Amino acid sequence: MSIIDWENLSFGYVKTNYNVRCYYRNGKWGELEISSSDTLNVHIAATGLHYGQEAFEGLKAFRGVDGKVRLFRWEDNAQRMIDSANGILMAELPKEIFYGAVEKAIKLNAEFIPPYGKGASLYVRPLLFGSGPQVGVKPAEEYMFVVFVTPVGPYFKEGFKPVSMLVTREFDRAAPLGTGRYKVGGNYAASLNSIKKAHAGGFANVLYLDAREKKYIDECGPANFFAIKDNTYITPKSDSILPSITNKSLMQLAKDAGLDVEVRKVAVEELATFEEVGACGTAAVISPINKIVDEDEDKVYTFGSDKPGKISTQLYNKLTGIQTGTEKDTHNWISVVDV
Ligand SMILES: *Cc1c(COP(=O)(O)O)cnc(C)c1O
Repeated sequence: MSIIDWENLSFGYVKTNYNVRCYYRNGKWGELEISSSDTLNVHIAATGLHYGQEAFEGLKAFRGVDGKVRLFRWEDNAQRMIDSANGILMAELPKEIFYGAVEKAIKLNAEFIPPYGKGASLYVRPLLFGSGPQVGVKPAEEYMFVVFVTPVGPYFKEGFKPVSMLVTREFDRAAPLGTGRYKVGGNYAASLNSIKKAHAGGFANVLYLDAREKKYIDECGPANFFAIKDNTYITPKSDSILPSITNKSLMQLAKDAGLDVEVRKVAVEELATFEEVGACGTAAVISPINKIVDEDEDKVYTFGSDKPGKISTQLYNKLTGIQTGTEKDTHNWISVVDV
C-alpha cells in the first residue's frame, strides 16, 4: 500500500507497483509484459543510448468528480509516437499496443491515481527506443516500448499563476529541418544549457526563436506558445515546433468560445501588441506569462498583472473541467479507464 501526501506531490518520480513493457524483435512486436522493477536491462551498444534513437510521450489520467478515471486524447499521443518513430527511423508502435500498455499501467497502479480535487493526476510516460546494438550509425533492429506512471501534483503549487520567459539568441533547441517536430529526447538534451541560463536569470524557461532567422517565435521550452489579441487566439506556425495536443485542444475551445484562431508566423516584436500570452502543454495545461525579456534587443514585454488573463483563465477552466468531468466532453476527447 502506498501512503502518499496528495497535497504535496511535485512533478517528480514516485515509485509505483508495476510498469509495462513490449519488445520488437525479428520484425514484430511481442506481447505486453508486466514488471515490478523500475530498472531496465539494456544492451551496452543500444542505439537509444549511443545515437539518441529514442522518443517519448506524456499524458495524464485524472480521477473525476464522479470517481471515474479519465484519460485525455490518448490516440493523439499514440499517433505522435508513430510520427516520432518515423522521424528517427524506429519501428512504429501500433496504437492498440500503445493503448493496451497505457491502460494496463493505469489499472495496475490504481492506488496511485490521486483523488479528485487536489489538482493532482497520474502522469503516464510511454517510452520507445532502439534497444538493439549498432556501432555504425544505423537504426537498431530491436526496440523496446515501456510505459510507467507516476502521480504528479498540480503544476502550480500556489495556484494558476503567471511566469516569466527569456528570449536568448545564444542557443537553439532545434534546427530548421531537424527533429524539433518530433518528441525525441535529443531535443531536450539540446535545450538543457539554455534552460540553465534561463533559471539562473530567474526565468521559468526559454522562449525559443526560429533557428534560421531568429525573428519568429517557435515555442517555450517543453510547451507551445500562444497569444490572445483582438479576440483572436494566435499560435506560431513552424516546422521545428512540437505539435502540442494541449495547443490543438485550446484552439478548438477558443473557436467554441467564439474566438478566431490564427496559426501563422509570429515575429518577436509582435509581443508588444499581445493582450495575453501563455505556454501550453500537458504538464501545466496553460502557464500564463506576464513578462518576456529579450536579452539581445534589450526589451522587456509585460502582460497584465500578477493574475492570469481573462481568456487564458476561461480556456484553462474549460480544459481542466473536461479532464475531470465537470465540463461536457463535446469533442470526445475522453476515454474512461475502468480501473
Ligand atoms: C510534449 C511537448 C509539448 C507539449 O505537448 P502536449 O501534447 O500538449 O503535452 C510542447 N513542446 C515540446 C517540445 C514537447 O516536447
